[in-house]
Amino acid sequence: MHPRMPPARENSVWFLTGSQYLYGEDTLRQVHEHARRIAATLDDCDAIPVLVVDHEPLTDAETIRRVLADAGAAEECVGVILWMHTFSPARMWIGGLSVLGKPVLHLHTQFDRDLPWSEIDMDYMNLNQSAHGDREFAYAESRMRVRRKTVVGHWADPHVQERIGSWTRAACGWHEAQRLQVARFGDNMRNVAVTEGDKVGAQIALGVSVNGYGVDSLGLAVAGASEQTVNELVEEYEQAYALAPELRADGARRESLVEAARIEAGLRAVLEEGGFGAFTDTFEDLGALRQLPGIAVQRLMHDGYGFGAEGDWKTAGLLRVVKMMASTRPGGTSFMEDYVYHLGPGGQKILGAHMLEVCPSIAAERPSCEIHPLSIGERDDPVRLVFTAPPGPAVVVCMIDIGGRLRLIANEVDVVAPDESLSRLPVARAIWHPRPDLATAAEAWLLAGGSHHSVFTMALGLEPLRDLAEIAGIELLVIDEETSIHRFANELRWNQAYYHLARGL
Ligand code: MN
Repeated sequence: MHPRMPPARENSVWFLTGSQYLYGEDTLRQVHEHARRIAATLDDCDAIPVLVVDHEPLTDAETIRRVLADAGAAEECVGVILWMHTFSPARMWIGGLSVLGKPVLHLHTQFDRDLPWSEIDMDYMNLNQSAHGDREFAYAESRMRVRRKTVVGHWADPHVQERIGSWTRAACGWHEAQRLQVARFGDNMRNVAVTEGDKVGAQIALGVSVNGYGVDSLGLAVAGASEQTVNELVEEYEQAYALAPELRADGARRESLVEAARIEAGLRAVLEEGGFGAFTDTFEDLGALRQLPGIAVQRLMHDGYGFGAEGDWKTAGLLRVVKMMASTRPGGTSFMEDYVYHLGPGGQKILGAHMLEVCPSIAAERPSCEIHPLSIGERDDPVRLVFTAPPGPAVVVCMIDIGGRLRLIANEVDVVAPDESLSRLPVARAIWHPRPDLATAAEAWLLAGGSHHSVFTMALGLEPLRDLAEIAGIELLVIDEETSIHRFANELRWNQAYYHLARGL
């Protein structure tokens, strides 16, 4: 069902434990046994989607350098968890940390949860030294400005495992970003500012490669789609969706459904052949396409592709990365646009939608497949899936180029049911209360320069996004229950100064 979403278990994190020779063979054997059991527990727990691979304790600078270089080069390794079971003089780690180049999680834990009060002796004290071993290590990390997540607590605590799981999801997203290729069919929507940006800068910052393709090549692929492929897609539509009467086999507009399937077949073939994980199009440049791609884009998103409308390559790339982070989690993730407001009584809220392209992974019910006119684009009426997102918590996140760097802005929201039926609205939608309230959230979003396009996810909370921003070293502004405009405006000013300085000359 999701050909472009590899199972998370293809990825791994390496669980690396620090110590030193001074302790002798017996102690190091126990250290390794402890590390093995912790790694096995983390590997087994549901919160952590990737493999957790343990390693024998690292006790000297040359081994540390070699193992961290291996982790950096290993294709399946998305990051390393580092833990100092005992005292591991941290200058031994400088060489290794210098060559690693992968996300770091510093796990500050202790093998035993409880102090054996009446039995504790100096042997015990010598074996269980993470309280000071990790402090020595964290000094070197801080001194070297190693970006990392630090997680403190007992390794069997579900909250600790959740926090590690968030980071592994962010590390998987980062891993994908390094390889991600975005295909742009046509250019930007004319005169639009926020969907533009520095592609070279974004590739340096995130690894994402964005390349333009003539819409003619897409038109040829659509024209060349085999009748069998097109017919199979039409059958899939009939199985999966509630077809409007006019699109059914005997319906007056059946040919439009077949044409929509042909567009999906062509688009899918181009993306698969090119190894793309995300794409953009624009209604201003459709070449030979007879409809603006609607259901095709929706279904490709459902299969894991990133998408941005109107040439929006930043949202397309971000959507693919967030979908990878959310892989195996319940709840969907979609391209989204803040569209219209309810500013009246009953709680102010936002109706998010797009002209067509909302991902059915966020559908509460079986989508209905419909055809309606589109007032822009000068093409035939496009076929699209129509549905409403279910109530529940969600996050809306956007990525903008603020000039010389990227900025992420995320808002925690609560999706709600529509106040009344939306029977005349011909597009998929989600309705939400932004936290802390619409006025504060929108004011903060505008002050930060947040875009109208965003990634909407009901599969992830804020923590994995914070982890991703830390891994990437890019700014993340959060709008949540605690946001006050006064503090948010100050954070913007301080961040401007920080990121200007942090970039260097
Ligand atoms: Mn748009």
